[in-house]
Amino acid sequence: MSASDADLFDTALTGDRMASETAASGPGQQERPPAIQCRDLVRIYTAEGIEVQALQGVDLLVNPGELVAVIGVSGSGKSTLLTILSGLDRATAGTAVVGGHDLLRMDRAERVRYQRDVVGFVWQQASRNLLPYLTAAENVAMVLSLSGGSRGGGRGRRSRISSLLDLLGVAYCADRRPPEMSGGEQQRVAIAVALANSPDLLLADEPTGELDETSTAQVLEAIRRANEELGVTTLIVTHDPSVAAHVRRTIHIRDGRIATETMRRTEIDEQGREQRVAEEFAVVDRLGRMQIPQDSAMRLNLVDRVRLAEEPGQLAIRPQGAGWEESS
Ligand code: ADP
Ligand code: MG
Repeated sequence: MSASDADLFDTALTGDRMASETAASGPGQQERPPAIQCRDLVRIYTAEGIEVQALQGVDLLVNPGELVAVIGVSGSGKSTLLTILSGLDRATAGTAVVGGHDLLRMDRAERVRYQRDVVGFVWQQASRNLLPYLTAAENVAMVLSLSGGSRGGGRGRRSRISSLLDLLGVAYCADRRPPEMSGGEQQRVAIAVALANSPDLLLADEPTGELDETSTAQVLEAIRRANEELGVTTLIVTHDPSVAAHVRRTIHIRDGRIATETMRRTEIDEQGREQRVAEEFAVVDRLGRMQIPQDSAMRLNLVDRVRLAEEPGQLAIRPQGAGWEESS
């Protein structure tokens, strides 16, 4: 990552900042491997003889400690991407490497270890994340015992459970069972459960999809705090564009491809005030392909054939214009 890239990450979240600094490749510096690296990731589903290309060549690089939102309309491939990264599904082609684990090459035993030790997952349906007959603390404890528990015996384990619940702002729910909690509280406990095994990667698929506005804000804030304090790389999927306001990097997925990315940073304006600035970038893949935004394509008639003209410092894309015969 270049110094100017690192500048894009220079705001409040220390976890992110540390990660991007460590990942920076200055002279004599050891480059830290990316947390997630996907190349040309393809997932084709075949159902009753019909093929659906859910992912059509996703290129994605996420640095350790980053917090990234993945946004796209329903059916754009968000869950497919997350399920592959979680190790629950396997891509049809391409590469996906998470923290050095090659997800397309893992055997069954490695896959189980990967799911147990490397990733934490939060589903949209709160009921899918927690066991209804266990309290919040017991739900977290269960993961700790599966993953070999925490060091320091029973006391170490109890203090780990309460610090996790505390970090997510649900310490007061420790002795409640899911039916005694609101949807938002359940999701924050679910995040604690997902973090219990100290994963390198936290994946959340529409964790706020069933919540009201207030609970949504609390859950997003909890995720942000976990990312910041634990430094866990986090990918949160949503179809809610307002989530983008909570994170520094948003990936927009369209028809199984990453179309654009929105980056945010803090700038100081002329009056010396801090200002959050967001800019949307088109994503160019390794083969030089990019998607023209649908609105612009329609408005400027950028379809079928376009003219590319290099101008100083930029490349212009113009409609073909009239008067050209079809070549035969
Ligand atoms: P999103 O999460 O963005 O709504 P998905 O990743 O769930 O999108 O789905 C992407 C595309 O893949 C959709 O067209 C969906 O119908 C299709 N798809 C998802 N899962 C399956 C499956 N198990 N079998 C067949 N098609 C699927
Ligand atoms: Mg989905």
